[in-house]
Amino acid sequence: MAATARTLTEVQTPFMTDQPPATTLRSIQGEQETTRQLDLFMPQEDVDLYVDSVDDQILLCRERGRHSFPSAKETGLRFNGGVDEETGLLVRRVMCTCCRLAERVEYWDVKHRGTRVTRCEYVGASVVYHTEHTKDGGLRRYTNKPGHGRMKPKQVKTAVATGMLAGTVSYRDLLKAAKQANDERLGAR
Ligand SMILES: [Zn+2]
Repeated sequence: MAATARTLTEVQTPFMTDQPPATTLRSIQGEQETTRQLDLFMPQEDVDLYVDSVDDQILLCRERGRHSFPSAKETGLRFNGGVDEETGLLVRRVMCTCCRLAERVEYWDVKHRGTRVTRCEYVGASVVYHTEHTKDGGLRRYTNKPGHGRMKPKQVKTAVATGMLAGTVSYRDLLKAAKQANDERLGAR
């Protein structure tokens, strides 16, 4: 897929739901590839390289292991994705306020009696990832290149912390500072 627009759809996660989705929703799972790739974890060296290549907002979501999607309470329940043709479910699309590259596509079953809405049931959601062209000609992306496996938040934390310490501080100074900080903490009680 060529990067023509400011953002473009890149990867879609498997459909996630608390309850079994209607059979027609199964197609939302998309590429069969996804399931296979999720089973493989990325080597730490690859995670180190990835961490060096992305910005802080992306790292925050990676370290947390999840995105920050505003709830319906925060944004109001706007079905800005219209109506899903296949299922008739109403669609709410919402961007992660942190990395701004992940978009959650939620499916809602709005029950009604005549014109009166009686209940609004959350059915489930999938996440769509976008890329973004930056002003300096770079490309922001949340996902790593395909075929490298999945990275764990633990690996991201390790890569970030290693980048902060490795080669910049002596171990002896680190221990001294740790002991001092702990003493201060206890003294401040
Ligand atoms: Zn995010």
